[in-house]
Amino acid sequence: MRCPFCGNVDTQVKDSRPAEDHVAIRRRRYCPECGGRFTTYERVQLRDLVVIKSNGRREDFDRDKLERSIRIALQKRPIEPERMEKMISGIVRRLESLGEQDIPSRTIGEIVMETLARIDTVAYVRFASVYKNFQAADDFDRFVSELRPETPPET
Ligand SMILES: [Zn+2]
Repeated sequence: MRCPFCGNVDTQVKDSRPAEDHVAIRRRRYCPECGGRFTTYERVQLRDLVVIKSNGRREDFDRDKLERSIRIALQKRPIEPERMEKMISGIVRRLESLGEQDIPSRTIGEIVMETLARIDTVAYVRFASVYKNFQAADDFDRFVSELRPETPPET
């Protein structure tokens, strides 16, 4: 694994342990070149998902992007990071278990909203208010960029 700080490819694993109720392995890594420390997660990937936008464009599903939007929606909400990770993994499992490789971007938005509604009302409202515009645009990139921390929830 390449060091994100100096680009050295020869980094060392210092510690590995199960995370998210054994759904992932968390590894602490160390770079002997620059002394940098970073963490990686190893997860089962059942299938490679592809997001289909309304304009027909295809894009590899990006878990980080999903995580970013959820993290913003949950900002300053009393949700444990571990719980959020589990929630994101749960969403990804649901997407994978749809049995399709191609997933319309709106399906992802709907599943996220459904999940947030169960976990945190404020986060749900934040997400849903942006999602309304998102449905018009139906573009996940735009969606994520609109879902900024300073976006006030439309309550
Ligand atoms: Zn380094």
